[in-house]
Amino acid sequence: MTHVILPPPFDRVKPLTNRFLDFIYPATCHLCQRSLTQGRHLCDPCTDTLHLITPPFCSQCGESYDGKIHADFICPNCHDLDFSFDFAKAALHSDGEGRALVHDFKYRRQIHLARELGRLAAIALDDPRFHPYLNDGILIPVPLYRLRLRKRKFNQSEEIAKCLAKNRQLTAVNALKRNRNTQTQTRFSRAKRLANLSGAFDITPRFKARIQDKRVILLDDVFTTGSTANECAQVLVKNGASHVAVLTVLRG
Ligand SMILES: [Zn+2]
Ligand SMILES: [Zn+2]
Repeated sequence: MTHVILPPPFDRVKPLTNRFLDFIYPATCHLCQRSLTQGRHLCDPCTDTLHLITPPFCSQCGESYDGKIHADFICPNCHDLDFSFDFAKAALHSDGEGRALVHDFKYRRQIHLARELGRLAAIALDDPRFHPYLNDGILIPVPLYRLRLRKRKFNQSEEIAKCLAKNRQLTAVNALKRNRNTQTQTRFSRAKRLANLSGAFDITPRFKARIQDKRVILLDDVFTTGSTANECAQVLVKNGASHVAVLTVLRG
């Protein structure tokens, strides 16, 4: 049975991803425009052109590397980092059509693409390290700050989480809240990134009991430096989650 339990504003955007979207967005491939069956927006040939992340990749941050590397290797960027999550895994490299799909979804409000992005995220869930998370685990999207949410009208991670929860019989809960907006992280040094995010996230009180001793899959659209995911994971672990693994569509 599928459980999708997300408080407003999740509820507010919920109808948009169902029949209404099927009505306003005909079933065609977003990339090549060929006709598809109802509810689909990415054809199989176009899916095959996307750059899936395949081994070897860093066992902590999911960054892929060329060559023959031991499966458990940790990349140079992660060597001196102590993440609060067990591992991060992305479905796709952040380039070409994969990046375009997420960009169109997020910034051009092509919200119907959430279902395809949920399907793509599900590919990364096949990583065996996620198996212990699938029985009794909880899916938690990275939240947006309320002012940004008001501007964008939807939280991209919530939309993907909702579709993934339906696909994979998971429970999705909006257990995190964002206390303030944070500046773009990529141009900061590591120390500045951590300071920038400190206290940015908190647990939603009514969901605190739900995460006790649970394995949590933290979902975001893209993993870049890992500082956002790490800050969220830290809050989840501090509030009782037993383990946190990070799942994203893109690895930036
Ligand atoms: Zn296509
Ligand atoms: Zn790494």
